[in-house]
Amino acid sequence: MASSAPPQWPPEVTDEQREALTLLATTYALSHGLVYLPPTDGAQPPAPTSVIHAPLALFPSPFPRRQFELARSLQSNYNAMYARIAMAEDFLDAVMGAEVGVGRVDEFTGQLWRIWKRLRSEGITQLRHLGLFRSDYLLHKPEKGGPPQLKQVEFNTISSSFGALSQNVAQLHRHLLAKTEYYNSSPILKMENMPPNDTIAGLAEGLAAAHKAYGSPSAWILFVVQNGERNVFDQRWLEYELLEKHSIRVVRQTFEQLAVSAQVVPTSRILRLKLPGQLPRGAESVEISTVYFRAGYTPNDYPTPAHYETRYLLESTVATKCPSIQLQLAGGKKVQQVLTQSIHYQRFVEGWPSIYTESGGRVRESWMGMWGLDEKGDQGVQKARDQAQNLVLKPQREGGGNNVYKGDIPAFLDTLPREEREAWIAMELIRTPEGLGNYLVRAGGGTAGAVKTEVVSELGIFGWALFGGAYGAIQEKEVGWLLRTKGKDSNEGGIAAGFSVLDSVVLYD
Ligand code: ADP
Ligand code: MG
Repeated sequence: MASSAPPQWPPEVTDEQREALTLLATTYALSHGLVYLPPTDGAQPPAPTSVIHAPLALFPSPFPRRQFELARSLQSNYNAMYARIAMAEDFLDAVMGAEVGVGRVDEFTGQLWRIWKRLRSEGITQLRHLGLFRSDYLLHKPEKGGPPQLKQVEFNTISSSFGALSQNVAQLHRHLLAKTEYYNSSPILKMENMPPNDTIAGLAEGLAAAHKAYGSPSAWILFVVQNGERNVFDQRWLEYELLEKHSIRVVRQTFEQLAVSAQVVPTSRILRLKLPGQLPRGAESVEISTVYFRAGYTPNDYPTPAHYETRYLLESTVATKCPSIQLQLAGGKKVQQVLTQSIHYQRFVEGWPSIYTESGGRVRESWMGMWGLDEKGDQGVQKARDQAQNLVLKPQREGGGNNVYKGDIPAFLDTLPREEREAWIAMELIRTPEGLGNYLVRAGGGTAGAVKTEVVSELGIFGWALFGGAYGAIQEKEVGWLLRTKGKDSNEGGIAAGFSVLDSVVLYD
């Protein structure tokens, strides 16, 4: 069955109704931890005294049911595929390595890869790896017409954020519906079209599975966090869930703090944090079962060689890393591009049970065309110049604000040194459906601050995988979703970077 056209959006409401919805939305957000720390001039206070609500959409955004269900059904395949990639050392050396791969020209990739190489030369391998993943998609309008297609933007293997806040914003929209019926402004605004989203429980379950597999119930989980992080509540919700539902304690530390606190027990390579005076029962130190990185994905998190040394130290322990360096490297944009080549793709689906190979075809259909700028002499760059209006160029970075779009591409290519081409991929632009709008609400805007804008929504699907060990077995699960909505004129979509808002889906057929 072909999808019908999307409904007119946002539905019509009066100014009064919009203001009432905005008041309900912001107060619900503040009451239910859909919040950020406020911006400050300098460092965050050691103990915060105030919050602001996260940027949010007043209405859920319409999303075709079939594509939503497809995205969720693909997640198990992606979980397993990226677990396999992380274990394919020869592949990662060739693609991301600093001897023959991207790590030669991209300093950050090279730094990470060299840590991994050093560990291997010392005979240290990871017992297990944990990935908390998010696969991101946009809807693509095919040139020939027909229903919108689901196309992958990127696959995140480190610090996949907004799991907790995406659950809270889905609950917010359900609350607005329960309370006001959205003033009956649209026939699709019904509970059955607004799927539940239990991402907090799902992601915590992944962390708890790693903790359990480690086999020391009294150990703690370490969250490695950034200095000055404002999106702390998204992380705290996971911490609370781990304690309340799994009786697992969490400690938060920055790389700087870990440089002092982290110790590796010789021979056993157990990771312990020395935190005198900060632990119950007068304990001096605590064993760590699992290291969850919410930092370490950008070179800004490693301002000195000592920071990389701390990453090495953590990697060298028997604690399960989420992610290990090799799983972080597997999430590189270069890997995403190389996978589109049949020979590599085949390797990672070969021998899978039929459920994977059959739907594996659907995995491929979710990809846009991609190539490396260093391909075939000057041809990769020439093709990028010729097709610039239809392209985005991406370096090996995470976290938003690094890509080069359309009209900016030719001038950028003029200045890009030949030897740096290898660090960049070209990706065809996903042509998102037009004509959808929403009211975007930012903190400080007051009730008049619900701004009506034409928007684009990006769907993220969360999943986890625990894998490795003697048999390379993979345990994995799809655990929820996220919708981020941005103004149509913004190329980028990062919420933390201030370009977009948290949203949820209302499904239509
Ligand atoms: P990052 O790791 O910085 O998040 P992404 O690959 O997710 O990098 O790109 C950032 C944003 O750029 C996306 O959220 C999306 O809005 C936009 N974008 C990325 N790739 C495409 C594409 N092929 N077509 C259209 N928009 C894209
Ligand atoms: Mg992204």
